[in-house]
Amino acid sequence: MANVVVVGAQWGDEGKAKITDLLAAEADVVVRCQGGCNAGHTVKHGEDVFKFHLVPSGMLYGDTLCLIGNGTVINPQVLLNEIEALQQKGYATSNLKVSNRAHLTLPFHTDLDQAQESALAEKKIGTTGRGIGPTYMDKVGRYGLRIGDLYEPEAVLRERLTQIVEAKAELLAKCYPHLPTYTVDDLLAWCKPFAEKLAPYVADTVGLVHESLAQNHNILFEGAQGTLLDVDYGTYPFVTSSNATAGGACTGSGVGPTQIDRVIGVMKAYTTRVGEGPFPTELSDDIGRQLLEIGQEFGTTTGRPRRCGWFDAVIAKYSVQVNGLDGLAITKLDVYDGMPELKICVAYRNRETGEQTTQFPSQLRALQHVEPVYETWPGWAGSVKETRQYEDLPVEARNYLSRISALIGCRLSIVSVGPERNQTILLENPISGGKRHLSSPEKVIA
Ligand code: GDP
Repeated sequence: MANVVVVGAQWGDEGKAKITDLLAAEADVVVRCQGGCNAGHTVKHGEDVFKFHLVPSGMLYGDTLCLIGNGTVINPQVLLNEIEALQQKGYATSNLKVSNRAHLTLPFHTDLDQAQESALAEKKIGTTGRGIGPTYMDKVGRYGLRIGDLYEPEAVLRERLTQIVEAKAELLAKCYPHLPTYTVDDLLAWCKPFAEKLAPYVADTVGLVHESLAQNHNILFEGAQGTLLDVDYGTYPFVTSSNATAGGACTGSGVGPTQIDRVIGVMKAYTTRVGEGPFPTELSDDIGRQLLEIGQEFGTTTGRPRRCGWFDAVIAKYSVQVNGLDGLAITKLDVYDGMPELKICVAYRNRETGEQTTQFPSQLRALQHVEPVYETWPGWAGSVKETRQYEDLPVEARNYLSRISALIGCRLSIVSVGPERNQTILLENPISGGKRHLSSPEKVIA
């Protein structure tokens, strides 16, 4: 048995929710560790389809403890809406707990996010406009409001809100005079109903996670966004405001790295990206449009069409490194059904100097100046959607997957061939399969 982190290994939207939901069957606890309602995780269970933004993807199993950790930022209305939607469909919610250390997105955070994005015009980051960046800015700036503060005596909460309002008032008045202003009383009135409604769910989740560790329970740490959106390792500044890489699972939940046994990276069989910023393997031709349509690549949170391109092994290898991946979950293999040939980007070539590299560049400008170096692999006829055993995949599909595994130096654990739970090829179960083992990349068959 093992404690496993599931992270997005590309630019997000890799299908983490499906993989988390699948592995959650073996988990006693599922923890969301970072990000906020800018994340959008689609979980399907029979006829029920949920688009979760905040609650962990393990929520559909009534007996799994689902924690929203201290590294997340919470829009309380969004959380309450998700709880209500689950209750309306008959799912239990008493197994959900949210950290009293998590920060709250206050009304002016959302206003500021949208105002800052429109001020950037052509240079916008492409945020979801949900106030996540400003909430994290205030957390780091030490002007944040934590969920636990809602339950302090009113005089203490009032004092905290006064500090926050005083800090924000000048900025709002000088830089954003068109935005609404909030008094301490406005914010107090905003806090009260949320404090009441959230009370049954608020807990010291650090304590809960350690109780579970002491009982040798299996804990699944669910990442949001993706490695290339990580504030440190991503394509800065076109990134999210938290650590979406595996380290974020520790800082966002209160466990140390020694408690983590496995790290599984979820990647699509191709690459997508939402929002702005460079994307070396982007396809603006018919193949790109085909991936968009067949893969239904539209943002869960915003509905925006995603940019689509070939699999980028430079990115994927970098992801293996910065996350310490020891297992791959490749999703959406079915989207390639019937495609005559598939390309894999194996290196970047600098357009001006001709120099090649397999190292992902740290600077955006360097990434803007590369073109992909491709290998071409034959596609397969027919569909993989009904395949459940690895050996039953067409040889071309196995070779494609094996090549990816070998190129990036990480073993294949899971292949997803459709959105349903059962549309999955499980080469190993990272949780019940046990503790860390040396990874052995796949061999190409032919
Ligand atoms: P996440 O945020 O990483 O969980 O990804 P999203 O939920 O935003 O997007 C993944 C989408 O792909 C969802 O609509 C899933 O139902 C769907 N999906 C996941 N795995 C597969 C797969 O193997 N094949 C297909 N066709 N769809 C998949």
